[in-house]
Amino acid sequence: MASVVSQAEGIAVGPTKLLINNKWVSSKSGKTFPTLNPATGEEICRIAEADSADVDEAVKAARRAFDEGPWHKMNPSERGRLMNRLADLMEKHADELARLEALDNGKPYAVARAADLPLSIACYRYYAGWADKVHGKTIPVNGNYFCYTRHEPVGVVGQIIPWNFPLLMQAWKLGPALSTGNTVILKPAEQTPLTALRVGELALEAGYPEGVLNILPGYGPTAGAALARHWDVDKVAFTGSTEVGKLIMEAAAQSNLKRVTLELGGKSPNIVFADAGMEETIEGCHFALFFNQGQCCCAGSRLFVEEKIYDEFVERSAARARRRTVGDPFDPKTEQGPQVDQDQFDKVMGYIESGKKQGAKLVAGGARVGERGYFIQPTVFADVRDEMKIAQEEIFGPVMSIIKFKSVDEVVQRANKTMYGLAAAVWTRDITNALGVANSVRAGTVWVNCYDVFDAAAPFGGFKQSGIGRELGEYGLQNYTEIKTVTVKL
Ligand code: NAP
Ligand code: MG
Repeated sequence: MASVVSQAEGIAVGPTKLLINNKWVSSKSGKTFPTLNPATGEEICRIAEADSADVDEAVKAARRAFDEGPWHKMNPSERGRLMNRLADLMEKHADELARLEALDNGKPYAVARAADLPLSIACYRYYAGWADKVHGKTIPVNGNYFCYTRHEPVGVVGQIIPWNFPLLMQAWKLGPALSTGNTVILKPAEQTPLTALRVGELALEAGYPEGVLNILPGYGPTAGAALARHWDVDKVAFTGSTEVGKLIMEAAAQSNLKRVTLELGGKSPNIVFADAGMEETIEGCHFALFFNQGQCCCAGSRLFVEEKIYDEFVERSAARARRRTVGDPFDPKTEQGPQVDQDQFDKVMGYIESGKKQGAKLVAGGARVGERGYFIQPTVFADVRDEMKIAQEEIFGPVMSIIKFKSVDEVVQRANKTMYGLAAAVWTRDITNALGVANSVRAGTVWVNCYDVFDAAAPFGGFKQSGIGRELGEYGLQNYTEIKTVTVKL
């Protein structure tokens, strides 16, 4: 291991430097920043802080690797083997990675071990399989010509990821980019750099050539922005807030018109009809909102419930929220850990205040838990109206807003009245109603009688201001290839 700097919860922590051209290096400025344990607010260790000079260095390495390195001459199946090797190494170290993820992000270890790790590993394996299966077409053009297309890598790719699913977002980004032969500079979120760096170390062990995968922890407005505006970066992929997504697009437009894909925020409608099975729907909607401390871009954060069952639904949802166990991420009984940092904690508490002020009825939670760390009680508001802030803006925390509706047409119209369009769900035993709503809701993913079902093969992404492009599945490959048309006179 490049550097083991501390032991927390019995977990070895490291590496802590920048990964550029297969070497662990300090930042040019010599600056470092702390990463904290959200359960205590204490510093875990310090991490080298990349800035634009380090980005320049990494882009040069990635460019060299793309233009001259063994990468572009490598058989595609060999790229697949490398990725499978990385997946195998992650599996071998799954326990350690899950601990590190829980330590840095605050999510329950048991959840990281059961969900984040297997989903990340599956994503690498899925894209490993695509490495030698991405191909063009032959096109029957008019005249005596032979015309075909090639799907070539875009080139040097900058990837900027958030803190809510550090390992999984890394896999969603690296999987399709590396499998199609691009070279990458990845910037993890400042709050959660540890697992990204450990995966970098495993990638070295797997045998990725120099310069193919560079990992640069640092802050968004410095390191992230430098990637987005860099003239020699061919594409930028970003996951995070809609606000920053717009800055990324602007930077791309004002520099070299690099390709941009964005996976942004949401305010996803989760629609419950009176004929849905009450028990499983209560549990499903609880999961849809509270999973990952409510820090999901696709959280079912506008919970529309049909009038006939509204009161019972509210009462049972509140009871379920009160039963949710909040505490130490390493306690196996814990369902919910802390929010990721003080800023997110303050932001969520601010929304709870706003809900109360605007007249929503607080039926569960509403306060912090304990005196240290960033824990918040699972919170439920009833009598939420469409125009309230808590029904309009992304809270990104454990705050459920339950809204009443009467008819299908009305709820579809209200569900679509948002700038977002990431996900939606519908709960009903009536198949015609379910599919009617699924077709009418303007969202990139619709779940029927389930929520947050993800698979590496199924595309994910947003309509409207929730993003541009799709990740995962065969569709996810399109973000990382350029189409070349070759026409030959016969
Ligand atoms: P954010 O600012 O959008 O951060 C996402 C990533 O972008 C991080 O790596 C961040 O770096 C980087 N970044 C920030 N400013 C940048 C800039 N000017 N240029 C390039 N990169 C930049 O999100 P956040 O502040 O962590 O969270 C704010 C809100 O965003 C949340 O409350 C939530 O509503 C939303 N969010 C959505 C998702 C999602 O999955 N769609 C994930 C996280 C957050 P640093 O972390 O180092 O600043
Ligand atoms: Mg941290």
